[in-house]
Amino acid sequence: MTPADPALLSLNTATVKSQWTLAQAIEGCARHGLRGIAPWRDKLAELGLKKAVSLIRSHDLSVTGLCRGGFFTAKDWLEDNRRAIEEAHALEADCLVLVVGGLPEGSKDLLRARERVQECISKILPEARAAGVPLAIEPLHPMQAADRACVNTLEQALDLCDALGEDGRSARCALGVAVDVYHVWWDPKLEQQIKRAGKRVLAYHICDWLAPTRDLAYDRGMMGDGIIELAKIRNWVEGAGYAGFHEVEIFSERDWWQRDPDEVLRICRERHLLT
Ligand code: ZN
Repeated sequence: MTPADPALLSLNTATVKSQWTLAQAIEGCARHGLRGIAPWRDKLAELGLKKAVSLIRSHDLSVTGLCRGGFFTAKDWLEDNRRAIEEAHALEADCLVLVVGGLPEGSKDLLRARERVQECISKILPEARAAGVPLAIEPLHPMQAADRACVNTLEQALDLCDALGEDGRSARCALGVAVDVYHVWWDPKLEQQIKRAGKRVLAYHICDWLAPTRDLAYDRGMMGDGIIELAKIRNWVEGAGYAGFHEVEIFSERDWWQRDPDEVLRICRERHLLT
């Protein structure tokens, strides 16, 4: 296995969400020699899109993804996703990450919720394509099927891509997947589905799964502190043709969000080399 290329480390701003504004995160990346950043839209709104674009450009950072679009259960989903596409376009983001939403309030109809995801993506896909913004469906761990995303495996996400006409053979993929190790590491079909994804892998998110884990959303581990075979998964992803960034995304209320963010970035750099 080849080691991870340190030039491919990107910071998902969720990792330092409680400590830094987006401006501070951009400057932090530059200071620590990271070449990629993936902002969340709440932080982007705080800073303002224009300022963010100019600050990111002045530090010559790549935007490895914008988090997030989707949430098709929300009442204003269409307008919100249109805004997200515009923002991703302005940032020249590699993709807009879609967290598709779970069950609508009061509903137990999971199959219908999944059909609806396909309908909603089919509605925004032409607009995203016209804006040159690839959409990346991020399957979430099944524990979050009800409240955050009813797309829970890579296979399901790729079935959606197939159904919406994106087979990964076109030169520029308009609809693909975000592979987040935290959500998919357990999947017995992971290797097979990464292979199937091929060029449709649009983003690769890393962290670690702590055992035991104390919170299903906000207790992610630093690479190397948990049980995910990170080097193996990265090799599968790269073997499928993905040559993009490795975006570190750690939600960690009790640990990493409590630390000095410069220390967090320093450790991210060290640990990335082991993934
Ligand atoms: Zn992710």
